Amino acid sequence: MTDNKSNELTKEVKRRRTFAIISHPDAGKTTITEQLLLFGGAIRQAGTVKAKKSGKFAKSDWMEIEKQRGISVTSSVMQFEYQNKRINILDTPGHEDFSEDTYRTLMAVDAAVMVVDSAKGIEEQTKKLFKVCRMRGIPIFTFMNKLDRDGREPLELIEELEEVLEIDAYPMNWPIGSGKTLLGLYDLYHNRIEAFRPEETNNGERFIPLNKEGEIEGEHRIKKESLYDQVLEEALLLKEAGNEFSTEAIAAGKLSPVFFGSALTNFGVQTFLETFLQFAPEPSAHETRANDIIKPTEPTFSGFVFKIQANMDPRHRDRIAFLRICSGKFERGMDVTLPRTGKKIRLSNSTQFMAESRETVTDAVAGDIIGLYDTGNFQIGDTLYAGKDEIEFQELPQFTPELFMKVEPKNVMKQKSFHKGINQLVQEGAIQLYRSYHTETYIIGAVGQLQFEVFQHRMRNEYNSEVVMTSIGSRIARWVNPDQLDENMGSSRNMLVRDRFDQPLFLFENKFAERWFSDKYPEVELTSLL
Ligand code: GDP
Repeated sequence: MTDNKSNELTKEVKRRRTFAIISHPDAGKTTITEQLLLFGGAIRQAGTVKAKKSGKFAKSDWMEIEKQRGISVTSSVMQFEYQNKRINILDTPGHEDFSEDTYRTLMAVDAAVMVVDSAKGIEEQTKKLFKVCRMRGIPIFTFMNKLDRDGREPLELIEELEEVLEIDAYPMNWPIGSGKTLLGLYDLYHNRIEAFRPEETNNGERFIPLNKEGEIEGEHRIKKESLYDQVLEEALLLKEAGNEFSTEAIAAGKLSPVFFGSALTNFGVQTFLETFLQFAPEPSAHETRANDIIKPTEPTFSGFVFKIQANMDPRHRDRIAFLRICSGKFERGMDVTLPRTGKKIRLSNSTQFMAESRETVTDAVAGDIIGLYDTGNFQIGDTLYAGKDEIEFQELPQFTPELFMKVEPKNVMKQKSFHKGINQLVQEGAIQLYRSYHTETYIIGAVGQLQFEVFQHRMRNEYNSEVVMTSIGSRIARWVNPDQLDENMGSSRNMLVRDRFDQPLFLFENKFAERWFSDKYPEVELTSLL
């Protein structure tokens, strides 16, 4: 590669920002995503993403889901330009769309934005997703949403964030009032006040500058409000007793900058975006199985598959493999190697995902996500690389499933297609498979209900195998060291099964059953996946 080209590549890579938005359903992820896309000019009207959001269909009706997904998938990676940055937002589906894919998506980003409903605080799904972000040590930014409604005390929210998620928080701004009394944001980072209703301030200004003491200089209407005095006190408290601002701690995912705002009324979102872009990291380096570090600016193309979307288009039965580019530049028609099989593959047909339409990739570099049409070549976690030197990135982690079903073929005469299908889908990472110790019953595990529905649908349509699934509900999966295992330890409350690598684990009925077990066999170590 010539110097010129390499400089060009470096420049392009360094302006990429790739992140996921995580939240509990209804916290406002879709709303804020839309606002961000609007700033970037990627969509023209709020409501575009919303209209694509699933939610109306019956859970069991996969064809409906599929129809919805055909569209929602295009919004699962959204790209736009803002302030000369090329931004990729990866959607992490929630609700009944929650699946292992949601977790895996977090393996493909360099930062995460956590949207919290300020009336509710930290909720379950956020906690789960947060765990994965922390494991990766990526920067986590917090947006406390719905400030236009009465919420909980800001200090209480910050305390909860720190306690529940075990991360330090740094408020970048602080609400002046909330709900009906919302006046604005006291922006500690920019030393200014952002008015909620600029038309009600002295000169209709949105930003009111503050002096060195953090106060408004001279006369101002806001100064007459008691909330103004209150926020000055609170700001002082934050400065004196709060965490210290540290870009290193932010980069290491140890300190979360917290922004307050209201996505629906588009208040504080732009400030958030602009400040976020200052601290959001450039594409990160990735480690290979041989412990080499592949820098994003290296000229050789490489990437890994983190998600496979089946049946995007019901007429074509195509699958799309989502690839995070880790180094170099993607060129249409390039030849790459798939180290798992040693096969060479030509990447001629790939799409990049935009908010409104699928477009063919033109200039994707490290940090970007491309969608590759797949006829069954790829598995989740696969590396692709160009050039001569083998690159194989580290395996993606497995996640502890929480929901379980017994599964068997409807027609016992069709064992063959049943086994073929189940093995393929397990390998692909669509579902996890376990067998009970004595009866060899097949049990499948998932992190979200949708995974079962997709499994059943794909077994029928791709492998011609009708399956019967019987729920055994939610269970706590804990692996044990085979040397410490006595098969009599299993019971109906802690079902003993083995995973596909023949490792034993218990499926505990609940926390109580797990505690009871630990009390009875204190020497047996129980471990979970992520
Ligand atoms: P998601 O499930 O996290 O994607 O949440 P949505 O973006 O769909 O928002 C859930 C609901 O909260 C919708 O009715 C939104 O209109 C509403 N909502 C989102 N942001 C705000 C906000 O800032 N203020 C208020 N009052 N409502 C909001």
